[in-house]
Amino acid sequence: MPPTTVPILAATAPVAAVSDVVVVGGGPAGMSAAVAAARNGASVTLVERYPHLGGMAAGGFVLVLDDIVDEEEITVRGIAQEMIDRLETMGLAVYPPPEDRVLSEAAWEKWRRWGAIDFHQPGEIKPIVYSVAFDPEGWKTAAHDMITESRVSLRLHSPFHSPIMEDDRVVGVICNTKTGPKALLADVVIDCSGDADVAFGAGTPLVQGSYLVTTVFRLGNVDTATAMAFDREEPRAAYELDREAKRILGGAWEHWWLLTPLPGIVWCNAPHMTGYDGLTPLDQTAATDEGRRRVAELLEFARQRIPGFEQAVLVDVAPQLGVRQTRLIRGDYVVTKDDVVKRHHFRDSVARGRGYYTPYRALLPRDTQGLLVAGRHYSVEPDAQKLSREIPPCMAMGEAAGVAAAMAADAAIDPRDIDVARLQRTLRSQGADPGDIPSPRAVVDHAALAVTP
Ligand SMILES: Cc1cc2nc3c(=O)[nH]c(=O)nc-3n(C[C@H](O)[C@H](O)[C@H](O)COP(=O)(O)OP(=O)(O)OC[C@H]3O[C@@H](n4cnc5c(N)ncnc54)[C@H](O)[C@@H]3O)c2cc1C
Repeated sequence: MPPTTVPILAATAPVAAVSDVVVVGGGPAGMSAAVAAARNGASVTLVERYPHLGGMAAGGFVLVLDDIVDEEEITVRGIAQEMIDRLETMGLAVYPPPEDRVLSEAAWEKWRRWGAIDFHQPGEIKPIVYSVAFDPEGWKTAAHDMITESRVSLRLHSPFHSPIMEDDRVVGVICNTKTGPKALLADVVIDCSGDADVAFGAGTPLVQGSYLVTTVFRLGNVDTATAMAFDREEPRAAYELDREAKRILGGAWEHWWLLTPLPGIVWCNAPHMTGYDGLTPLDQTAATDEGRRRVAELLEFARQRIPGFEQAVLVDVAPQLGVRQTRLIRGDYVVTKDDVVKRHHFRDSVARGRGYYTPYRALLPRDTQGLLVAGRHYSVEPDAQKLSREIPPCMAMGEAAGVAAAMAADAAIDPRDIDVARLQRTLRSQGADPGDIPSPRAVVDHAALAVTP
């Protein structure tokens, strides 16, 4: 009989770095956390398993930043806006100007294929809002520049393996490398892995969520002007072809293809695939197989039938499987769907998305010291996470966690014990919107503060 378990690590790992703050995961949340912590005086090590920064925004080809606004009010600023500015300077960000952010047929025709739509509104024509289409290579470059300029010590090719614990306190992490396991010690660790890898290893209470998975892909050589003219001039025929394309893809959002800043290249935020666990290799492999099969069939169909796609080619399928939800931590507060939908304001709000607020307590894993989380695995009910996991709010959470970690490390206290009012003031003074001042549309329900479901 083969053994059921085998030892996997040497008994000791060399200490490769000692920092005030270690951030695990270089996606939108992790990059923001690392930059914010470093800019607030902490020495920071950022570890990422892949050879680039960006997470889903770069490796997953998620190429529109949305949930930045609540109607006309821009609700996510700070490092997210800085990223947009840098992408724009490179000519790799496109968004509607203020005069086009309206509900009109003209604005709809001009901007809907850029994904700058308020998807949450009913009706065939939806309002155009501030959303930003960008290029994934541009993201990688801008993220790398921000990390380097902030003097963060970056360790790519470093998959996190396990936390280093002293009782219920996280005091560092072990990463696997080609030269063996390495220990990285820190006063505060921020888990930005998207899947709560550190919290899982630390024994933090978690819930297992799940949602659609997607192999996002890009098509090139598309005559987008012809394709959009066909949409406009033959809406009935375009609708029928669109329906067939979505059937092949197994589902897609409103538009299965969207424009990118690169001419002739479109990105496809599809197929929608259900029933896969985004954490297990066999499911990840099966989803990748299904996704690639659907992409190939779609390409053939589009070339044969859709005006503008006759010469289309598959440029690439995203190197990372698009996973939207897996483990979610249980923090000192668990954000509910009601909180998100009804715009509940919290006195300890440190980040905002489209109309909703994130309390600091939702970044603090229960029963665990020395650890913060930021990003799509924050403390939230699975149904509420589906509405509050877009890239900009994840960056806002990361920024808040980064500043909080720097404060905690500086004062040699646990992140749970920092002065949240000071955190909010610091975020605001640095250009972020922590949501400490509720918008007139917020529901101020301070009774919710006492609840820890
Ligand atoms: C298909 C799809 C479409 C989406 N559409 C949109 C959209 O149109 N607009 C929008 O704004 N948002 C969209 N989202 C949501 C958004 O992309 C994510 O919620 C967001 O990227 C989460 O950011 P994050 O930093 O929390 O996690 P991630 O982006 O997942 O980043 C996590 C990072 O941690 C790293 N990591 C993970 N595990 C380890 C480990 N063990 N060791 C070291 N590093 C590790 C990863 O490599 C990655 O770099 C979409 C998501 C998907 C999947």
